[in-house]
Order: sequence, then C-alpha cells, then structure tokens
Amino acid sequence: MLETTVAGSLPKPSWLAEPKILWPAWRLDGDTLFEGQQDAALAWIKHQEDAGIDIVSDGEQFRKHFVHGFLETIEGIDWQLMTTMGIRNDRYDAQVPTVTSAVRRPGSVHGADASFCRDNTKRKLKFTLPGPMTICDTIANAHYDSRPHMAMAFADLLNAEARELEALGVDVIQFDEPAFNAFMGDVVEWGVDALHRAIDGLKCKTAVHICYGYGIQQNIAWKATLGEEWRQYEAFFPALNDSRIDQVSLECANSKVPLSVLGLLKDKEILVGAIDVATEVIESPEQVAETLRGAMEFVDPERIIACTNCGMAPLPRTVAEAKITALGQGAALLRQELG
Ligand code: ZN
Repeated sequence: MLETTVAGSLPKPSWLAEPKILWPAWRLDGDTLFEGQQDAALAWIKHQEDAGIDIVSDGEQFRKHFVHGFLETIEGIDWQLMTTMGIRNDRYDAQVPTVTSAVRRPGSVHGADASFCRDNTKRKLKFTLPGPMTICDTIANAHYDSRPHMAMAFADLLNAEARELEALGVDVIQFDEPAFNAFMGDVVEWGVDALHRAIDGLKCKTAVHICYGYGIQQNIAWKATLGEEWRQYEAFFPALNDSRIDQVSLECANSKVPLSVLGLLKDKEILVGAIDVATEVIESPEQVAETLRGAMEFVDPERIIACTNCGMAPLPRTVAEAKITALGQGAALLRQELG
C-alpha cells in the first residue's frame, strides 16, 4: 500500500546540460552524449532506490524537453520552420517546430533508453511520453485539417512506441497531458479518444499526468488569475474516470485544486502529488504525510500512489534529490501509521 513514484522529469547534471531551464542545450554530443545520459539516469535511479521510491524513472535524462524529446526523430516535422505559438491556450509563447507532412515514426525513439534503465533496476520502471493533445499544443500544424486529426496521427506513433516500451519490460507508461486543463472541452470531445488510441493493446499500467504546469514564472502568473479554488478538473474528470487509463497523476501539495474533485475519479489509481515543484523549500516527511492524508479523505489508501506534483527539471539538482528523499520518508511514515 502507498507505493511511491515521481511524476516525470528530474534535473540534469550540469555537466550534461545547462541547469535550471526547460529547453537546455546539451553539453556533450555524439556517443559521449548517450553515455552521459546513461550515467545521469543511473544516478537518478540509484537516488530513487535509496529514497525508497517503488516505481522509478529515468527522470527524462535522455531528452531535452518532455514534448520535443519525443518529436526529434519523427518525420513530417520541419525543425527549421520554427513558429512562435501561444501554447496552453495562449498562456505563454514558445518557439515550436512545424508539422509540414504526414507524421511517421521511422524507428524506436526511447527503446535504447528504456532498455538501459530496465537492465539497471529491479524496481518497477515507469516511462513517460507526451500525450497527443499536449504534443499538438506544442507544435505548429501546417498539414492536418484539424487539431484532433493531427492528435490521432501522433497517438498512432505513441502507441507504436508504447508497445515497444512495454515489450522491453516497462511497467508503467505515463502520458503527460498538461494541456488538458487549458482545453477542458476538447478533452471530453477528443482528448480521451486520442489517449485511448495511444494505449490501445497495452497490458502494462497506463497513466495520465495532468497539472497546472512546471513552476516557471509564466505558470505562476497564470495560476494567480485562477481564483481561490481551481475547479477546471471537474469538467473532464468524469470522462477520465470512464476512460481505460489506469492511473491519474495530479498536484495536491500547496495546490488550490479542491481535493474533493478526487472523488470524481473513484475507479482510478491516483498519483497524489505531495511535493511542490514550484518552490525550492524541502517538504518535511510529516508535510508529505499530511498531504497524502488529505487525499485519503476522498480516495481509499489502496488507490493512492505518493508522487511529486509535476516534473522537477527546472529545480537545482540537490533540491530535487532532497524532495525525493522527503517523499519516500513521508510515505513510509504514513504506511507505518496505517499499519
Ligand atoms: Zn506536470
């Protein structure tokens, strides 16, 4: 009971990539880059194991960014044609590549990465992929006649990738959909369908991570406009609960999301975010336990997995390490309490 995991990205060592930014430049290249990424993933796997994390991840050490990392080798995307696009429903501008012809996955994207991690831990292994809706909100469309059509095309590629990761021994495949709370109506209309296409035929656990974004300035400013209670999730949680996705990951630490909305996900396992990624202050184990207790008012403990609110890529490495340690200790505290 009360397993632990992390939401996704973890900081890259400063010898591997520029620290504390979302789209960092690599500091290595060629074969040396892959070797460095492996060493960085190994360091995070070891730290997660030491901290008592049950479902470990590579911390996305093999990719520059959680969306573009998957897209880099996909055909049909023009990386020279960079478009400035207001993403997450115009919350902030990003320079994004452009889809100019039908997208195609010429080969495995993360197979070698996942294999390496599988060979280096006996714990359950989670691998994250961007969700179809979030991909479509982080890339410009100059080919498909609509965003849902483009999403379905990407969902097919994600499905092929996910099937490969499952075959390599990955236990949990998580799709990151931070765009869900920017386009609540679209989630119900086609977002869940696109996810279903992405998980088609998978037998491993599947998860979707939704959130109000990394702790970057643009998100902090946007959150200030959302009022005292963030109820966006209410609009699509019923559809998510009816979906075939096994797990939902969301932020609960220092969040204005009323925890009562978790009651709408009564058939899902919940990855309860008990670590705030928007502050460098380290949670105490007791604070972690307190957040989990709050979720337990609406979710049976059997369905709770203790997690971080979101990825920790923009944080200093030592801060992320300490937060993971606190997560493991907090969950252990509560397990002890529950007997
Ligand atoms: Zn997130």
